[in-house]
Amino acid sequence: MSFSPAQIRRDFPVLREGKVRYLDSAATAQRPEIVIRAEADFYTLIGANAHRGVYGLAVESTRLYEAAREQIAGFIGADTDELAFVRNTTEGINLVARAWAAHRLGPGKAIVTTVMEHHSNLVPWQMVAQQTGCELRFARITPEGLLDMDHLQELLDERVVLVAITHVSNVLGTANPVADICKLAHEHGAACLVDGAQGAPHRQVDVHAMGCDFYAFSGHKMMGPMGIGGLYINRQRFNEMQPFMGGGEMIDRVELSHTTYAKPPLMFEAGTQNVGGAVGMAAAVRYLQRLGMREVEAHERLLGGYARQKLARIPGVKVFGPDPDSGGTGGVLTFTVDGHHPHDVAQFLDHAGLAVRAGDHCAQPLHKVLGVIATTRASFYIYNEMSDADALSEAVSDMLKHRASVVPGASDAMEMLDYYFRNPVARDPIPEWEVEKEGVNSLCGDELTIRLHVDGAAIKDLQVEARGCKVSQASASLAAATLKGKAVDEAMEIISKVQAMLTNNGPKLEGELAALNPVADMPARLKCALLAWKTFEEALKDV
Ligand code: PLP
Repeated sequence: MSFSPAQIRRDFPVLREGKVRYLDSAATAQRPEIVIRAEADFYTLIGANAHRGVYGLAVESTRLYEAAREQIAGFIGADTDELAFVRNTTEGINLVARAWAAHRLGPGKAIVTTVMEHHSNLVPWQMVAQQTGCELRFARITPEGLLDMDHLQELLDERVVLVAITHVSNVLGTANPVADICKLAHEHGAACLVDGAQGAPHRQVDVHAMGCDFYAFSGHKMMGPMGIGGLYINRQRFNEMQPFMGGGEMIDRVELSHTTYAKPPLMFEAGTQNVGGAVGMAAAVRYLQRLGMREVEAHERLLGGYARQKLARIPGVKVFGPDPDSGGTGGVLTFTVDGHHPHDVAQFLDHAGLAVRAGDHCAQPLHKVLGVIATTRASFYIYNEMSDADALSEAVSDMLKHRASVVPGASDAMEMLDYYFRNPVARDPIPEWEVEKEGVNSLCGDELTIRLHVDGAAIKDLQVEARGCKVSQASASLAAATLKGKAVDEAMEIISKVQAMLTNNGPKLEGELAALNPVADMPARLKCALLAWKTFEEALKDV
């Protein structure tokens, strides 16, 4: 099939009308109609449980479920019985942590992972370490955003039981040399788990050639339904595994006192399986196979490389990660814009019809290494084209040129909020205070420190240190301006009214506070606006 994003978009109901340039496929991909229809057809025409009944519908359900397994296993080069269905990558990794790692690790043993991991390939290992007393070791990255292979090798010794590594970084776009890493791990007697969330959807994967022991991936990132994913388990590990969850269909024989278990992969599929999801995911795989994974990969390299060059040329823009010619995939383009919080950038881009993601992308330790709290990320897939890259760089240039307001969209209230962003209130140090409180929105990186000098049950003086997006800073200034001089009881009453308006459909605010009214209609910004008010509330409780 020749590769035409414009033609491809016609298959996608969300994209067909061209209302949005969707640049968030690293979070989740859009789905073509045939995937939606395949899942709907399962429920419309069959809807019975798999692996249970002997009547026609149940037999057909089992046939479709197992055919989906065969299709998806083939897609990653696995044998059919080496693929367990899971909910997503996160569940796949947790399955390995519980069913394989937890009983093989202990004091004196170690897991090697890296600083570039998604929380899904970090937190489960922290939990294993806590439970077993094993050590966690983290390979560094180079200034270019590549894995530091020398450091990784230094970390490998006979104590290492598992190397857990991402195939492609969801922030840097770095494609790790996973085959080499698996080989190194095996040379040291360790197993290798590859987080394939950003791998399988975007490039040809052959788990046997790669040599990994476990490969986890999500259906929804490759145009399948949400709630279904795959975990490849190398057959040689079958005997080393214990069940993940107990229940129906994962058993061989059950007595009141004990149970023997089914063989993998059914051993890991306790309870009613997501047959509709599996059928939909198989349809997505067929769609990708028709396009050809080499073509998908080449398209992303070309497009990502072009977008990167355009964006990097804009003064004030910093692009992270390697370019596609030196270790990147092109599919992920993460950046910051001087003087603009990533949330504000994302909101401005939304207004320009571009859907991008802002925040820490579930990779807080990596953001710490990069020296930023949050970034903006555009990610590309088969339905994106050069004009999306052009629109992205034009919108970012536009934002810088016009010094965009707090959030785009003109209204008196917005202008007032903008005024409070541009004219910060109570930022100077105060000579004395009794109460100090910190507030953090860890996901987006808004931070706040409030100091209060309260005398005779009134707020005599206050100071706000605010770092974060425009909405959070404007809201902090508005709170400071409103609450200074108020009696503590009255201040608490105002805070409740603001919170009720923002979160509970409470009455609209009046006067200067009306500046916050439009935020109630922006669910993505509620947390930003609430931070200051919540922190003031906490501070006043300590008075
Ligand atoms: N690993 C990586 C590299 C990811 O990008 C993601 C999702 O963004 C995950 C794991 C988790 O995927 P899921 O939420 O589908 O479990």
